[in-house]
Parts: sequence; C-alpha cells; structure tokens
Amino acid sequence: MRGLLEYTGFLVANRRVSDPNSVTSLHFNDSPPGESARRMRTALRDLNAFLFPRTCAACDNRPAGGGFFCLPCSARVPRADPEVPARLCPVFESGLSSLRCLWYTEPGSPVRAAIHAVKYSLCPDLAAWLGQQAAGLVPKTGDLDAIVPVPIHRSRRLERGFNQAEQIARGVSDELGLPVSPALRRPVPSISQTGKTSSTRRLLAADTFCALEGVAGVRVLLVDDVVTTGTTLNSAARALLEAGAASVDGLAVAVSRRPGSP
Ligand SMILES: [Zn+2]
Repeated sequence: MRGLLEYTGFLVANRRVSDPNSVTSLHFNDSPPGESARRMRTALRDLNAFLFPRTCAACDNRPAGGGFFCLPCSARVPRADPEVPARLCPVFESGLSSLRCLWYTEPGSPVRAAIHAVKYSLCPDLAAWLGQQAAGLVPKTGDLDAIVPVPIHRSRRLERGFNQAEQIARGVSDELGLPVSPALRRPVPSISQTGKTSSTRRLLAADTFCALEGVAGVRVLLVDDVVTTGTTLNSAARALLEAGAASVDGLAVAVSRRPGSP
C-alpha cells in the first residue's frame, strides 16, 4: 500500500518530466503547475503521512515539525552560506549567475543520509520536501522563468527508476510556482568522480550536457541535489547558456563543506 501511494505520488509529481514526448515538445512558456495538481500532491502526501508515520531521514526517531529530520538530527544540520561565494571559481566559469545551497554536507551527516535516501530509494516525498526547503533561498522577485533539473543519463535513469534532481525540482516548483522543464539531456553516461583530481573531474564532465530547443531567452533556475566541486553544475549551465538561455542561477540542497574532496 505504501509503495502504491508513493508510486502514485511519484507519477503525479513527475507527470511532465517522465513523459518522453514532453521532453521534446515542452515549451518554456508552459504555465506553472496548476492549483488542482498541487492540491492532489499535498493530499497524497498527507494521506501517506497519516497512514505511515514518517521516521527521520537519518535515523529511526520521529521527525519534528512536519519535516524529515528529528530534533537531534536537525541540530546536526549546518546551514551553508546562503550564496556560494565566487571564490569557488570553477562553479562560475560557465557564466552561472549565482549558486545557492541550503546545507553543508559531509560524511556521516544527516544531510548525506537524506540525499542517499532520495537517491537510492523511491522516496519522492522526501525529495520534494528537500526541494521546498531549498526554494526558500530563492528570492521571489520574478526574475526566473523555468526550473531545469540536472539530468542523469538514460541508462542511469532506467537503473534507478527516476532522477532525484527532478523530484527535488518538483518541490522547488511547488514553492516558487515555476514550471519544471526538461531542457537538458545527458547524452554520455557520467563516470564516477570519486578519487579523481579536480582538473580530471572538469575534463570528465566537459560537454556531457546538451540543451534542448526552446531555452533561448529563458531565465533558468538550475537544480541539483549536491554540489561537490561545481563541475557538473558548471557544465550544465554552460550548455544552457550556449543554447541561448538569458541567465542561469544554480540551486542545490547541499554543498560539500570541502569543495574538491571526494
Ligand atoms: Zn534523526
């Protein structure tokens, strides 16, 4: 039953992105998610939470305040600088306008556990919640047109069944009222970057994204789960800007406390 509810919520939450036809046919002036769709998602989440009370994303305690972390774990979740400074040069090589990250992540942290839970299990409620929290960093000034999640390669998507950045982007969309657009493709499977040097990572990530039609003139909010070196976000932003995007701002749930470390 729980699986069915989560799967239903997953389908609702990903109705555009998961439709292969919409990937090529979606227009960027498509209207934001409707109120009825938002209500349906909220109702499904509430029903799921009622029938199956949550546990903390990082331990077995009950979470506090309607979130996904218990009080002890919440106390171990350090907030990152609201806007990643330009001293992280590789992040901004592409022309990325800004990068906002909600939390720091490091081995053993509750944030790392939450991201892992999103990545390796069907947990769209948690992903959407993370996106909603991160969206609080974005000023609602009307300077953005669309949310673009960082894509994963088709083979990875088939293996995992979903793209965690899309699920997080859906939560961002709920908060900001902007459409989620699958404007990026990842034609080459990513290579594990663990243990690679920063320069090697940049080479591996080069040209691994291509932007679809319709991005010209669009002010994009590029969304990912975690920023480690910024190389992936940088490549994705470059592809969007080369395709004519008016601007690209970055948003991630977490950033590595030590950029450049594995
Ligand atoms: Zn906990």
